[in-house]
Amino acid sequence: MIHYKELGLVNTRELFKKAVSGKYAIPAYNFNNMEQLQAIIQACVETKSPVILQVSSGARKYANQTMLRYMAEGAVRYAEELGYPIPIVLHLDHGDTFDLCKSCVETGFSSIMIDGSSHPYDENVKLTKQVVDFCHQYDVTVEGELGVLAGVEDEVQSEVHTYTQPADVEDFVKRTGVDSLAISIGTSHGAYKFKPGQKVEIRLDILAEIEDCIPGFPIVLHGSSSVPQSLVQEINKYGGKMKDAVGIPEEQLRRAAESAVCKINIDSDGRLAMTAAIRKVLTEKPDEFDPRKYLGPARDSLKELYKHKVIHVLGSNDKA
Ligand SMILES: [Zn+2]
Repeated sequence: MIHYKELGLVNTRELFKKAVSGKYAIPAYNFNNMEQLQAIIQACVETKSPVILQVSSGARKYANQTMLRYMAEGAVRYAEELGYPIPIVLHLDHGDTFDLCKSCVETGFSSIMIDGSSHPYDENVKLTKQVVDFCHQYDVTVEGELGVLAGVEDEVQSEVHTYTQPADVEDFVKRTGVDSLAISIGTSHGAYKFKPGQKVEIRLDILAEIEDCIPGFPIVLHGSSSVPQSLVQEINKYGGKMKDAVGIPEEQLRRAAESAVCKINIDSDGRLAMTAAIRKVLTEKPDEFDPRKYLGPARDSLKELYKHKVIHVLGSNDKA
């Protein structure tokens, strides 16, 4: 057993308390490799933002659990070396079984999401409570989910939205003991969230109803990439074929971040930024074969994107 505190990581409890009262949200950025992690840490150190490093079960398989543990510890040391140690959380994104959650706690994660949202309500409660009871023994915080997001993200996929029922949230939070709750109010996974021309609106009215039921309780938004059209155009300009990718407008997310929403997950926008930068180099310099020459620009582009999100969408700058 490696406890996350030995790695210099923190759980989400204090971070969320401050984020709710301070009316901002903490970035939850997914990573699978070194360049992504470097970009996240550089961006958050430069903007003095706390950060949640997210790993999906797919990322865990891709990067290897042992590698991830040392990468997370490396991220903590790297931030110190850059001269401004920021609070860093290592979080499992969309854990789907008790055993996966337990294994992550035992290998240094400080925060766990158990996503029982595909199960009937009572089974979701039971599974979530089992994970909470285990995690709290080690002071690991837990995110549960009520309602189902549309879209595709690694192993998680659904055709349609099922909005979170405000009437359920108080009961769910009480019976499970979760530390935060992911809700479904119209954000969705992946880069193809809406069709072009479709009116994109997240249901801030449902969010307000949920907040009335559990005042001040930390809320999480998944699937909150904005799919910047400049990045989609860049990808397509350099040989990509991404048609009709549309995301959530940043000003709607900014409004959500001012409520009890205290964690916003952004993954697809990073994928787009990285892909656009790599495609550009490989198209403009077809003789290039040094990975640093395309992964380096990809890292720079990611860093700019992450800084932009912190300052203009989440409002978490200068909160570390
Ligand atoms: Zn998600």
